[in-house]
Amino acid sequence: MVERQDMQNRELYFANHSYSQLESRLKAGRKTVLLFPVGATEAHGPHSPLSTDVIISEGMCRRAAQQLADDSEVTALILPSLGYAVTRYAGRFLGTIHVNEATLQAMIVDICRSLIEQGFQYIILVNNHFEPEHVQTLHRSIDLIQESTGVLIGYLDLTRRERAVRLTEEFKKSECHAGRYETSLVLADHPELVDTQLMPALPEIPISLVNVIGRGQKDFVEMGLVQAYNGDPARATAVEGEESFAILTDMLIELIRGLTHGSGGRDMPGFYNRV
Ligand SMILES: [Zn+2]
Repeated sequence: MVERQDMQNRELYFANHSYSQLESRLKAGRKTVLLFPVGATEAHGPHSPLSTDVIISEGMCRRAAQQLADDSEVTALILPSLGYAVTRYAGRFLGTIHVNEATLQAMIVDICRSLIEQGFQYIILVNNHFEPEHVQTLHRSIDLIQESTGVLIGYLDLTRRERAVRLTEEFKKSECHAGRYETSLVLADHPELVDTQLMPALPEIPISLVNVIGRGQKDFVEMGLVQAYNGDPARATAVEGEESFAILTDMLIELIRGLTHGSGGRDMPGFYNRV
C-alpha cells in the first residue's frame, strides 16, 4: 500500500508518468508548468558533493511543485535534471565535468523545443550554477527558443541584485561556492552527502566571486579558492538551508505566476552585467 504522500511525491515528476497518465493529467484543465532543474557536476569543496547545484535546483522544484499540488490554476511537474554545465573554473579538481557552450545550448534548445511541439507552453529553467559563461548560455538558449517558437521560457536569475538581496549575507557577498549558503542547502535535503567531520575544520575563504570574476580570473585556484570553495562552510546548518529553500521556493512560485499570467516569468541576466 503506497502512502498518500509517496503517491503525491511520485506524481510531481514528469518522467514517473506513463504517456497515458500524462495525457489525462494535461486534460484536467489546470495550466501545466514544467520545472527543469539545471546544475553542474562540479567540485564543491572537499566536504560537499559534486551534485551540490543539482541538489539545490531539485530541492527548489520539489518544494514548489508540492506547494502547488492543490492549486486551482497551475500544476507543476519536474523534468529530469540536467547535471552537466559549462564549468571551467573548477576544472583542476577531480570530478568536474565540463561541456562546451554549444553542447549545453543544443541540449536546452532541443529539449524545450521537443516539449513545446507537444503542446507544453510553460517551461522554467531552474539553475543554481552561476559561472557567467553557463548563465549566458542559458539566456542565449532562451532567446533562440523564443525566436523560433514564440514561446517564452521562464528563468529565475539569482545573480540579479533584487534576487540576491532576499537571500543570506554570504550569498549577497557572492562568497557562495560551497560555502555556508550552499552547504546549508545540501544539509537540508541530503545531509548524508556532506562530510560533517571535515566541514567544521574548513577555514573561511572571504573571497567575492563578483570581484575576482570582474577582474577576469577564470580558475578557482588562481582566484584563491584553493579547495574549490569560498565563504564559510564550517557554519552551515540544515536550519539555514531550510530557510533559504523557503525563500528560493517563494521566488520560484512568484515566477511561475508571472509566466502563467503573461506578466513576467523571465529575469534578464544578472550580476555579470552589474545589475
Ligand atoms: Zn554551487
